[in-house]
Amino acid sequence: TLEASLRKAKDEADAASASKSNFLANMSHEIRTPMNAVLGMLHLVMRTNLSSQQNDYISKAQIAAKSLLNLINDILDFSKVDAGKLELEYAPFEIEEVLFELSTVLSGSNSNSNVELIFDIDKGIPPCLIGDKMRLLQILINLSSNALKFTLEGRVTLEIKCLAVDKGMARIAIAVKDTGIGISVEQMQHIFDVFSQAESSTARRFGGSGLGLVICRRFVELMKGELFVESALGEGSCFHFTLELPIAKADQKKQLAKSQVKRRSVRILVVDSNESSQAVSIRMVRTLGWHGVKTETVPQALA
Ligand code: ADP
Repeated sequence: TLEASLRKAKDEADAASASKSNFLANMSHEIRTPMNAVLGMLHLVMRTNLSSQQNDYISKAQIAAKSLLNLINDILDFSKVDAGKLELEYAPFEIEEVLFELSTVLSGSNSNSNVELIFDIDKGIPPCLIGDKMRLLQILINLSSNALKFTLEGRVTLEIKCLAVDKGMARIAIAVKDTGIGISVEQMQHIFDVFSQAESSTARRFGGSGLGLVICRRFVELMKGELFVESALGEGSCFHFTLELPIAKADQKKQLAKSQVKRRSVRILVVDSNESSQAVSIRMVRTLGWHGVKTETVPQALA
């Protein structure tokens, strides 16, 4: 019958598409291994005696190799999700650790001193949740580095709120806001497409593959959430999503409680002339159970 032959054609098309994604996923892996070797060797050469010209050549090769590796990693992630091969981790993790790792990664790449990076974290978030910590970190790294990349002046704020705690589950709202270049209505329709960038000049001006948001969106979907964006040209952007994560059980909490008791004795002096980031820092310090004191200037701090 017609229906049977249509079904057969559809199955064949699905199989072809899956094997293509599979091929891509495997190839990316094959490419990544030697690429890591190249990076390792470049790193070793950098530590030998080099003339300044050689040093310049090698550091340029390093930058190119790193950006190639990033691209390969993106393709690998994307093709894995596309082939339905990506399975999420389901393990207890501390949100604080995710934030610590995020700040480490971002501080390495955030060289623009005109942009302030602010973490605004709700104290109501259960400290220990269950989910895929590395993928969550990857989403946050992608969104925050985009925000930093497209913001020449102002602020990038990561805001995490606990909307509800119910029946052992926590509803967590995560938003990455920036005061950057923003995205126009037309551009907005395409930024979640594979290999798409808002304008063709974007790659030249800012670099990037156009895969980051696609991957973020798929990861958020795998976590049963949905990634939204609100933006207007010249008015900054806000990428946000909500996740529902199980709260870790008592035995993991016990360990956490222990480390929190230890934290209580810590006294922290926050020195920051920016009012909003000072307020956020002080709030975080107090949320962590530390004793926080704030000052605005270095002389005040010394006094
Ligand atoms: P890329 O690797 O190019 O950054 P993404 O998928 O992460 O790829 O982003 C796709 C495009 O969406 C970007 O090239 C940029 O045009 C736009 N975009 C993403 N985040 C922002 C942001 N915070 N502000 C302005 N434009 C953004």
